[in-house]
Amino acid sequence: MKVHFLGTAAFEGIPSMFCRCDLCQKAKQLGGKNIRTRTSVMIDDELKVDFPPDTYLHMLRDQLDLETIRDLVLTHSHSDHLYAEDLLARYPGYARSSEHKIGVYGNDLSILKCREVLGTGKDKFDLRRVVPFRRTELQTASIVPLPAYHDQKETCLIYYIEKNGKAILYGHDSGWFPDETWEWLRDKKLDLAILECTSGWLDASTHMNIESTVRTKERFVEWNMLQLGGQVVVTHFSHNAHLLHEDLLAIFGPHEITVAYDGMVLQI
Ligand SMILES: [Zn+2]
Ligand SMILES: [Zn+2]
Ligand SMILES: [Zn+2]
Repeated sequence: MKVHFLGTAAFEGIPSMFCRCDLCQKAKQLGGKNIRTRTSVMIDDELKVDFPPDTYLHMLRDQLDLETIRDLVLTHSHSDHLYAEDLLARYPGYARSSEHKIGVYGNDLSILKCREVLGTGKDKFDLRRVVPFRRTELQTASIVPLPAYHDQKETCLIYYIEKNGKAILYGHDSGWFPDETWEWLRDKKLDLAILECTSGWLDASTHMNIESTVRTKERFVEWNMLQLGGQVVVTHFSHNAHLLHEDLLAIFGPHEITVAYDGMVLQI
């Protein structure tokens, strides 16, 4: 299975648009893996998680054909995860797109945001609300949405995804997972877990930082939740952490946690 990391930054990207901090200046000079756009992952070119405003850039940079997408899973309605206006570009007049409907799955607020722009979705999208702990069959995979601790104004979701015999935890934006999410996960065997490390060494509650991502991996190991060869990946970095890609590699290397970068492809 191909897991393609399209973007790996938090809301503001790295460098952040209006920022003159040291990290943003260095990222601009060094380029490469220090440049991070807003988060999204594509699985097997057909299942996409989140739809950030950088999707257009991702298409150009990685030469994507977005018409291969069958299902779009949304974690929450924050604008770095859902820029619904760009979904309109699939309609006649903006695109000669194919006949199939893309299934779009998310919490109430994410689906409402899509409806405000797309109406019912007409012939191009099938908009579906999902609820925590209820398994939902997509066109390309089976998912179970799980509650996160991220923004009390909406039910932010992380996803347990089963596809072609593999299990992926798409774990952000999350904060430390709520107890009921841990309880649901504890007997699962993951081939891949994708976690956010938004805050670096800073304190964090509605996001994760280095300490909580490492603790999460330790719990996966302790609870025997990783499949043989199972990987843990960190992503969704904020410039406020002031960490370059090489700094992150030095921090996470000893813990055998993979640091994502824009364009990274994993085969699991
Ligand atoms: Zn975010
Ligand atoms: Zn900055
Ligand atoms: Zn968020």
